[in-house]
Amino acid sequence: MKEQPRTRVCDYIIVGAGPAGVFAAMELLKLHPERKVLVIERGKRVENRFCPASKAGKCIGCKPYCNIMNGFSGAGAFSDGKLSLFNPEDDDFYVGGNLHKYAGVNVTKRLITETDKMYLKFGADTKLQGVDNPGEISKIRKTAEIAGLDLVNIPIRHLGTDRAHLIYQKIENHLEEMGAEILFETEVKDLLIEDGKIHGVIYKEKKGEESEALAETVIIAVGRVGANWLLKICEKHAIKTEPGILDVGIRYELPDKVMKRINDLLYEGKFIGKPAPYNDKVRTFCQNPSGFVTTEVYDEGIILVNGHSLKDTKSENTNLAILVSMNLKDMPNPMEYSRNIARNMNALAGGNVIVQRLGDIMIGKRTWPDELSRNSVIPTLKSASAGDLSLAMPYRELMDILGFIEMMDKVAPGFANADNLLYGPELKFYSNKLELSTSLETSIHGLYAIGDGCGLTRGLMMASASGVYVARQVK
Ligand SMILES: Cc1cc2nc3c(=O)[nH]c(=O)nc-3n(C[C@H](O)[C@H](O)[C@H](O)COP(=O)(O)OP(=O)(O)OC[C@H]3O[C@@H](n4cnc5c(N)ncnc54)[C@H](O)[C@@H]3O)c2cc1C
Repeated sequence: MKEQPRTRVCDYIIVGAGPAGVFAAMELLKLHPERKVLVIERGKRVENRFCPASKAGKCIGCKPYCNIMNGFSGAGAFSDGKLSLFNPEDDDFYVGGNLHKYAGVNVTKRLITETDKMYLKFGADTKLQGVDNPGEISKIRKTAEIAGLDLVNIPIRHLGTDRAHLIYQKIENHLEEMGAEILFETEVKDLLIEDGKIHGVIYKEKKGEESEALAETVIIAVGRVGANWLLKICEKHAIKTEPGILDVGIRYELPDKVMKRINDLLYEGKFIGKPAPYNDKVRTFCQNPSGFVTTEVYDEGIILVNGHSLKDTKSENTNLAILVSMNLKDMPNPMEYSRNIARNMNALAGGNVIVQRLGDIMIGKRTWPDELSRNSVIPTLKSASAGDLSLAMPYRELMDILGFIEMMDKVAPGFANADNLLYGPELKFYSNKLELSTSLETSIHGLYAIGDGCGLTRGLMMASASGVYVARQVK
């Protein structure tokens, strides 16, 4: 006889076990140890996550989901774990997202301090980057100002990609010891909503039937990798959304020696500028000294670039993202704008990402593979196809990026050298924000949203802190 699908009944359901979902679950169980917390995650346990690209030399498109982006600790497991903290004297958070706009600045500072202590408890490095030598940092800031750039200097705790994995494994064990039920390789397909209230979710285990889990509180924490799914669910159930900012850009790779001063003093220099003629906001993001450029695979097989650095294995290059913030409020679905850029770029590269020399872009020619093999900056992402980014990157964003590179050359001479490499596309899928109350409740009663997927956060620390915050808000 065929087994009937089970209906699970619990107090809280969390969809997605990225940093946001995981920290929400830990805090809920700390506050209510007697209650039942169910976490549903479509990827694998953290100890079973492995990216074959390091052995195969290229992305093999893991099925059903990319191991870099899915599984316990989400995009955090393979990220190099730069936890961005805050400057106590600032009354704004320049990086990481917008939790403070809902929770307030002081509460967010307290949440980040508490969350940082939790990371320390699980083994994060006690050393903070970007706090020593304020005199030298202020000299870099002055040079940046003359070049028309702002330098945002925020203390950073660096876990290291290989160490982040171990830290999250400890957190996974701890969460299970606390009594959380975690369903791995299980995907939430839909939400059960009636009369404006959440009642639970419909999920499907890897080889199982569709089943229901019921709860009066559901927390959505699906990350950027689930942002497109979430948008469709919002359309289906008329959950209110609002357009957000779009980040379109490239990953830039250049010799460590050009970035040495910034790397040594800040580890990650967060520079912001508004190059002419468009004056769009352009910024550096996720800088990885002696790091490696990587890929990540999204739904529909969209491949994007990213980067990380390892604690023990080093390259001779620094990589960082250069992102242009676009505000396309008139467009009903701005995420489609960036997805189309990615589709075109991937199609040009035969289902891959593109790499091009800066010098070639400047003289209007593509980069050929043999030119890349003679280039003085050796690409750390071996699988990227040499090609022509300008065929798919919109003119405006390309001009913004090239203008910004010239400005940065005044801060770090050599930043605009012809042999430096641009990889594309690097995009951030958080352009469709959910309308949220100050307690992060959506327009559906009992349905909450946290982390990157709903447009609230943009980094490990604030995503984790949003989990702690929501756990204190729900009944
Ligand atoms: C290579 C790389 C390097 C990075 N480096 C840094 C860094 O140094 N510092 C920093 O601050 N940030 C970094 N980031 C970004 C950081 O990882 C994210 O900001 C953070 O992980 C967001 O947390 P989250 O919980 O919101 O989402 P995620 O970490 O994306 O987790 C979401 C989880 O939800 C699951 N999921 C999605 N849909 C469903 C569904 N329908 N059913 C069940 N499960 C679902 C996914 O499998 C995933 O595990 C990096 C990201 C990458 C990819």
